Amino acid sequence: MEIIKTDAIPLRSMKYSESSRIVRFFTEERGKVSLLAKGARKAKNRVPMDTFSLMNVVYRHKPSRDIQLLTQAELLNAFLRIRDNMGKSAVAFGICELVERTTEVDDPNPKLFRLMVSTLGALNRAASNPRNYYWYFQLGLIKVLGFGFNPESCVICGKGIRDFKPISLKFSFQYGGIICPDCGVDESKAAPLKPEAMKVLQFLYSHKLEKLARLKPSKAATQAIDALFWGFLRYHIDGLKILKSKELISRI
Ligand SMILES: [Zn+2]
Repeated sequence: MEIIKTDAIPLRSMKYSESSRIVRFFTEERGKVSLLAKGARKAKNRVPMDTFSLMNVVYRHKPSRDIQLLTQAELLNAFLRIRDNMGKSAVAFGICELVERTTEVDDPNPKLFRLMVSTLGALNRAASNPRNYYWYFQLGLIKVLGFGFNPESCVICGKGIRDFKPISLKFSFQYGGIICPDCGVDESKAAPLKPEAMKVLQFLYSHKLEKLARLKPSKAATQAIDALFWGFLRYHIDGLKILKSKELISRI
């Protein structure tokens, strides 16, 4: 038996008994873990176990158990301005769902944890355009999972894409990035990419989180970027067929 103390974000929580809950956390030290929170539903022990909060937890880890025992939980940041806002809540739910669906139990990924904390922090402070934070997170997630691409260059030959007419560029899930016209990949393996969507990708790639609220894409570019990330994730992640958050985020 080992005592683990780590920062953690609840991804989802379910009732276990009259007074207890099982909470799925994404932890900095151990990745995804399920913890039994005894008495969590009693008013005097009430620590928010809902999603979208940053906590520090202590639990007893036994390798033979699927569910570990939570012994202490301290709330570090409740991200209250996410809870107050439907659009921000939808995005935070989408981020938690992506982490739940793209990571394995007991497989630590501290980079992904830090990306999640910084994105939720910036989303909490954001004045507008919550969807930009969802895209930013997806671009970072793709990178952390090892499928990252650079929207400044062709994924095959590496030439800078600014040397080409924007209308001539394509995006390929199979090759994992942007394709220049010289590389001549046919339309069955690469789809044309709207120039405005290209600019949005470059903005997400090169700008800091604090500047994301400035990005105000048209409806057409928004749909193109949503479709691009969803198609890309589905292509590269086994078993990812549906996300509950997708419908919610499409209504922002
Ligand atoms: Zn090329």
